Amino acid sequence: AAKERGGSTTVEFDESMRDTFRFRDELEKELREAIRARQFLLNFQPIVEAADPNVIVGFEALVRWQHPQRGLVHPADFIPAAESCGLILYLGDWVLEEACAAIARLNACGGRGADRYVSVNVAAHQFLSASFSARVGELIMRKGIDPANLRLEVTEGVAITDAKRTREVLEQIRAWGVKTSLDDFGTGYSSLSYLQQLPFDTLKIDKSFVADLDDKRSQQIVRTIVELARSLDLSVVAEGVEDAMQGELLAALGCDYLQGYHYGRPLAESEAFARL
Ligand code: C2E
Ligand code: MG
Ligand code: MG
Ligand code: MG
Repeated sequence: AAKERGGSTTVEFDESMRDTFRFRDELEKELREAIRARQFLLNFQPIVEAADPNVIVGFEALVRWQHPQRGLVHPADFIPAAESCGLILYLGDWVLEEACAAIARLNACGGRGADRYVSVNVAAHQFLSASFSARVGELIMRKGIDPANLRLEVTEGVAITDAKRTREVLEQIRAWGVKTSLDDFGTGYSSLSYLQQLPFDTLKIDKSFVADLDDKRSQQIVRTIVELARSLDLSVVAEGVEDAMQGELLAALGCDYLQGYHYGRPLAESEAFARL
């Protein structure tokens, strides 16, 4: 394209960079507007028992952007931008509040809804912000939910940003009675010493290992993660399970819980909760 415009490779690079920035600017403006106009919604994906996948133990809340022109936009296409411009604090707070409201509705269904949890993704910046654990406590009280029915997921990026602060926040959250998961485990840069120091309850094995289970080495990695989790008294969820064979293998390798399209796609709240 640069050649056609008579430019050099450098020009092409510069122009695409400028386009990227313009796009980012535009996206940021739209995100700001979307937060104001409440264009976000949560989907819920079931998490099941590995020993009996008919049993749903909880749901992961996953945000979507109902864009007026572009339709349903997935988090990969806006979370990074929201993180880099700081809007993730507002978006993340909306997600947390909405998830707590959903927990109240889930538990109000009675029966099996009463002891199922909803797991919420929390960005590093949000998790490490000064008011985060107080906000969690406030929402639990205001929505009148059992803290055992709320879970929080963070990635290894949190610990890398500030391990000491991460530990503090994890301890405050644990004091509320809320459990925490380390998400996308195995893909980040965290050293094992973080794991030993940070009081998580659950490891979520990243879906890249699950997708690769035909490879004996991936199986060996899963087995090793499970052993590590056992020795640190953590439970294990495997993500991205797309067929029954993967699920059976992961159960045999010792995973406690499974999540993936095979057991249920992320669904609108009413559809998801109706599956209980
Ligand atoms: P994640 O937390 O690891 O969530 C799991 C992702 O895997 C979801 O993608 C889910 O739809 C997808 N998934 C589930 N089962 C399968 C499967 O069987 N196969 C495959 N290929 N994928 C599967 P989604 O909803 O697009 O979210 C992507 C990421 O965006 C999430 O990864 C999470 O890191 C982030 N995210 C989502 N919602 C929020 C949020 O409310 N706040 C923040 N900060 N991040 C969020
Ligand atoms: Mg997650
Ligand atoms: Mg994950
Ligand atoms: Mg992810």
